[in-house]
Amino acid sequence: MTIFEKIARREIPAEILYEEEDFLVIRDINPQAPVHVLIVPKKVIERVGEAGPEDARILGKMLAASGNIARRLGVYESGYRLVINHGPDAGETVPHLHIHLLGKRSLAWPPG
Ligand code: AMP
Repeated sequence: MTIFEKIARREIPAEILYEEEDFLVIRDINPQAPVHVLIVPKKVIERVGEAGPEDARILGKMLAASGNIARRLGVYESGYRLVINHGPDAGETVPHLHIHLLGKRSLAWPPG
């Protein structure tokens, strides 16, 4: 079971900010910006490149929710970045797809 499945089942503690039928929003344990949360589907999709057509609805819901999550976290106006890491060169560490939402600081572009 992935660490995010255990969080969804309340088997390990996490700061869960928001929950919907299909996904959770949790505070990242090692924040890379003053606002850093993860949008995590309850269904385990290992990584974004492995998502199939059957996952389109949930991925769409997660993206469509991101604006409201950014509003709640106070970064809608100042700006924020969504990141999905796929594989080692991207820095993926948890094999359970998640969208990072980062904000409340100026984010460099291109990313490091
Ligand atoms: P990634 O490198 O894209 O796979 O992102 C994994 C993210 O999960 C990292 O930013 C970690 O800090 C975060 N993370 C790992 N374990 C936990 C946890 N128990 N609670 C919250 N965030 C976590």
